[in-house]
Amino acid sequence: MARTKKIAAVESAPSKSKVTAGRTGGMLEAFARTADEVAATTKKLEKARLLGAYFHTLSDDDLVRAARYFAGHQFALNDARTTNVGGGMLRDAIGEVTGLEVENLRPRYVRLGDSGEVAFEAFDETGRGKVVKPTFTLAETESLIERLSGTRGTKNKREVLVEALRRAAPLEAKYLVKLLIGDLRIGLQEGLVEDSIARAFERPLAQVARVNMLAGDVGEAALCARRDELAGVSMRLFHPIKFMLATAAADLADVARTMPAEFFVEDKFDGIRGQAHVGQGRVALFTRTLDEVTHRFPELPAPLKHLSTDAILDGEILPARGAQILPFAELQKRLGRKTVSDELLAEVPVVFVAYDLLYADGRVMFDEPLAERRRVLESLIAKADEKAAEKNAGTLRLSAAKRVGDANELDAEFDAARSRGNEGLMIKDPRSSYKPGKRGREWLKLKRALATLDVVVTSVEVGHGKRRNLLSDYTFAVRRAAEDAELLNVGKAYSGLTDAELAELTDWFRAHTLQEFAHGRVRVVEPKIVLEVTFDRVQESKRHRSGYALRFPRILRRRDDKSVEEIDTLDAVRRLAEGNDEV
Ligand code: AMP
Repeated sequence: MARTKKIAAVESAPSKSKVTAGRTGGMLEAFARTADEVAATTKKLEKARLLGAYFHTLSDDDLVRAARYFAGHQFALNDARTTNVGGGMLRDAIGEVTGLEVENLRPRYVRLGDSGEVAFEAFDETGRGKVVKPTFTLAETESLIERLSGTRGTKNKREVLVEALRRAAPLEAKYLVKLLIGDLRIGLQEGLVEDSIARAFERPLAQVARVNMLAGDVGEAALCARRDELAGVSMRLFHPIKFMLATAAADLADVARTMPAEFFVEDKFDGIRGQAHVGQGRVALFTRTLDEVTHRFPELPAPLKHLSTDAILDGEILPARGAQILPFAELQKRLGRKTVSDELLAEVPVVFVAYDLLYADGRVMFDEPLAERRRVLESLIAKADEKAAEKNAGTLRLSAAKRVGDANELDAEFDAARSRGNEGLMIKDPRSSYKPGKRGREWLKLKRALATLDVVVTSVEVGHGKRRNLLSDYTFAVRRAAEDAELLNVGKAYSGLTDAELAELTDWFRAHTLQEFAHGRVRVVEPKIVLEVTFDRVQESKRHRSGYALRFPRILRRRDDKSVEEIDTLDAVRRLAEGNDEV
């Protein structure tokens, strides 16, 4: 993590004490110096100490900003705004401000592998450090982010960006660019920011993490920690909460080992995860990426309003006609559209299948065992059913949870789930609390026999024949580990998507290119497009740095509901190579 350039930047700082001087606290430069110092050490305690010392120099408003920025967020997580500034736009802006040609910048991206580092080097070498003194405050950084978010059109956005970068010193440019990319890459995860807050203000980490989760804003968690107001923060309707995730079970023996004597078995539905917030006469639906999607599913609010109390439900949005579950591909027809026509509503109706309950009638349910959460959920849905008007009946459903005491019964359950049109099984520990954002072993998934991996596209090439005008050949990667965001390529796929999907992605890749080769025929792209791929088998290979390559990979579908943080890891690939075919 601690690359030479970063260490050099720290050493050239006038004095480390500058970081702790109150006067400079609210300046972007002080943030940047602290970030450089954090990058220069691999020791977590030291990182926390540096952050803590810095937090103490800040006013309340700047503390909120700095905590968010260190967690890699441009806005609070509960704020749906985005800046939508791609790597390509940043590179153009860096070129315009420094006067360096794209041809000059490109090799720097290859060598440094990070847009922020490129900005620093380019600004430094062209002497901008001499003509521009650091004057950016964190408040101005926030205004810039807000302005970029509110500006429409690539050209206009670029102008805003260029104007801002013209008044940035090299170190400021480095961190403005990193922030706009959305990843500081200084070896700091959100969990460590929470830990630093807890240590700095001497509060329990669990409380800080809980407030961050409930409020959806690490900045607010920091401020509450400073003011000793953590205990007063409770659940808020219409603020989405991260979802609890499942781990793949290797086989039935794995289930038997992990689960208690009796466990819940449910169908694993193949739709999109949804969190329904209901109350104050309003309904909102959020996806796994915490984006609001209520407008896409106009048939869902009415039945959800029939719930007898305020509530937050966790469940699956599923295409279904009556009892018949429709394939996921049907749902995809609706996902691509901005507005849902009446024809489409009739062609692909959706239902909400609830399987968990996070909040009901003023009661926060996270810490209750699943068995209790289900009990309350069941009675809520039953009452809503009674109230539902005839035409809404069946649009809000409950996922059936069967208590099973023998893992050997799962074979038959798996087949039954498949015959109902579902993907496989979910196996859940009835004693488990709801752990937002965590992938644990209290929820296990048994997926289709076909082994699949969720991967992210890292580079693309133009295709051949009919596809010679499309960027249709994708190289894709997995993460090194859950806690290590490094991407490692594992294969290249040529087929599986429709021409319409390829055309749409071609436009996206052109707009989000980091580097171009062979006159744009080969492009390194921003790693954002997540795909589910299947393959013949996994073999060891020297071709990729991961050490593995997928044989005959095929793209099953886009997974726009997943972010790059959620793709599979090298460990999953390794297990597949060792003959475990269930991911
Ligand atoms: P995967 O997308 O393969 O990582 O599997 C986890 C996903 O399974 C969750 O995010 C849910 O969207 C989905 N899922 C389907 N059915 C259930 C269920 N009964 N309980 C929990 N998650 C489910």
